Amino acid sequence: MRGFFFRKCDRCSGTSIAPGHESPEDPCTQCGGVGSYSVSQLEPDIVFACGISDALDIGEYNALSDGNKAALHIILSLGFVNLAEGTNSKLALWAMFDENSTTRVNLLTLLAEAQNG
Ligand SMILES: [Zn+2]
Repeated sequence: MRGFFFRKCDRCSGTSIAPGHESPEDPCTQCGGVGSYSVSQLEPDIVFACGISDALDIGEYNALSDGNKAALHIILSLGFVNLAEGTNSKLALWAMFDENSTTRVNLLTLLAEAQNG
């Protein structure tokens, strides 16, 4: 999610400069001098659906039941997918791909990258 900025910082109003200062050398501490927040800063467990698609092991995908494939296709159609604990998307994906699967390992890597901004 790095670089995907969408909400103006409420402390510096998007100027990226600390309130009361006039120089870029005094960056806003709330947004880190960026002027806005990224998806990952606001919702650290949200990933792009294309990342989930790339995380799929094709052999594991092919082995899914038709019902699981249909559920997976709905998840991929979301665009952004929230993989926070307890979400339907995460529960479904974790049920489809066990902890020893290549897809689960790839999804955990994807999630860790999102959480690290
Ligand atoms: Zn700011």
